[in-house]
Amino acid sequence: METYIMAIDQGTTSCRAVLINHAAEVIASAQKEFTQYFPHPGWVEHDANEIYLTVQSVMATCLQKAKADPQQIVGIGITNQRETTVVWDKESGLPIYNAIVWQSRQTSEICDQLRAQGCEELIQSHTGLRIDPYFSATKIRWILDHVDGAQERAEKGELLAGTIDTWLIWKLSDKAAHVTDYTNASRTMLYNIYDRCWDPEILKLLQIPESMLPQVQDCSGLFATVPAFHFYGHAVPILGVAGDQQVALFGQKCFHPGMAKNTYGTGCFLLMNTGETPQRSKNGLVTTIACGYEGKITYALEGSIFVAGSAIQWLRDQMHFMSSSAESEDMAKASGDHSVMVVPAFTGLGAPYWDPHCRGAIFGITRGTTPEDLTRATLNSLAYQTRDVLTAMEKDAGRKIAALRVDGGASANRYLMQFQSDLLQCQVVRPQNVESTALGAAFLAGLSCGYWENLQEIEAMNSGDHTYEPAISKEEADALYTRWQQAVRAARMMPYTE
Ligand code: ADP
Repeated sequence: METYIMAIDQGTTSCRAVLINHAAEVIASAQKEFTQYFPHPGWVEHDANEIYLTVQSVMATCLQKAKADPQQIVGIGITNQRETTVVWDKESGLPIYNAIVWQSRQTSEICDQLRAQGCEELIQSHTGLRIDPYFSATKIRWILDHVDGAQERAEKGELLAGTIDTWLIWKLSDKAAHVTDYTNASRTMLYNIYDRCWDPEILKLLQIPESMLPQVQDCSGLFATVPAFHFYGHAVPILGVAGDQQVALFGQKCFHPGMAKNTYGTGCFLLMNTGETPQRSKNGLVTTIACGYEGKITYALEGSIFVAGSAIQWLRDQMHFMSSSAESEDMAKASGDHSVMVVPAFTGLGAPYWDPHCRGAIFGITRGTTPEDLTRATLNSLAYQTRDVLTAMEKDAGRKIAALRVDGGASANRYLMQFQSDLLQCQVVRPQNVESTALGAAFLAGLSCGYWENLQEIEAMNSGDHTYEPAISKEEADALYTRWQQAVRAARMMPYTE
């Protein structure tokens, strides 16, 4: 009887379950969306119970699709949208408020207060992060402030908090385990990534009782057991957990310092493995935990670009240049123009600029500019922004990368990948299976039970990589990049007004 690992990928808009075999092939998968709540402009919330039910439903559908017996599943790996936070009642098991999603800006006032109190240095030097509503800490504070009696109940030990991995494990284990892994902990802005503990000073500052927080463990190992009544008559262990971007780094086999991956989705997420010593960023990136494996912590530098694939959606849905994002490839190839520059700062600029006031701009338009030219320039902007972040990473890490590993929806665009390689003057490597997230979660789970022996065995698997090599000179690449930097400078000089 063939055995499998089940990866659960709990994303921002949908939940997926993916069955993976020993050759790291996808045997079956099931996906289901869940409701997004926008109670106020800029707020984003999820119903944590709906997320749990959706996960259960995709697990069942996936088993059915594969016609697999639950006994064939040797373990579960979980990866999740990071930072999104749930607070729930330990007794009833019910959330006391919706899950506050990573994108939600409802805690920006709390962040402003922390900045006004001069806490930036404390936060960066203990957690590696910048003060931002993105991270979990202020989301917990907000819930305790806005739900009647919550602070008091938290102090009495009646409430639990966690990121989505913690919530799912607690539910799937029938309340037996309140745990998380190092990567998810490192995104809360409450975890001291140097001392490896919930940070007493930050907890005190935010008045968050430590009793609410989960136990933190390695990404690969036993987290909990899903009892037989939750898994069709067969008890199955949860053996691997990590946040989605870290798990993609792992799924891309970036096991060694200096290896980096970029995920081209709605936004872009770049992570570089920086080894066992955390590198503090001086160039607008955050320091985070890449993995905890066999008692060893690996750190990463991370930079997020807010607008990437969503700029292609803008061309498709607002500009009506095309009917599918994939068409952008042929359109870009049909353009002969290099001079148009699109700065897609629709919601400000993320790393390394952190400029919330900047808005999008287009430069270099002539009477002859076509939709093809604008499409090409928009695709190019994904590559330029990637060079911005990678340059910052290389400066912080004090090393150059040899190759950039890529995944995510827009990595299917061959024009973009070639331009990326040209502009970075390094190899761009795209695996055949771009399901890096599901694979990474499966690897973490499989490694902890001997399904895969060790990292070397995983490294040795052929992932059918396609490699793009630079096809222009360094001088040409630098000249293009200089123009991009001018365009960003100009866009940032135009003040944004409502
Ligand atoms: P997410 O996980 O953030 O939802 P995905 O990894 O599924 O994102 O990627 C979807 C994004 O990639 C969309 O924004 C879409 O516009 C873009 N995209 C998908 N295919 C292509 C393509 N061939 N060329 C350019 N962009 C693409």
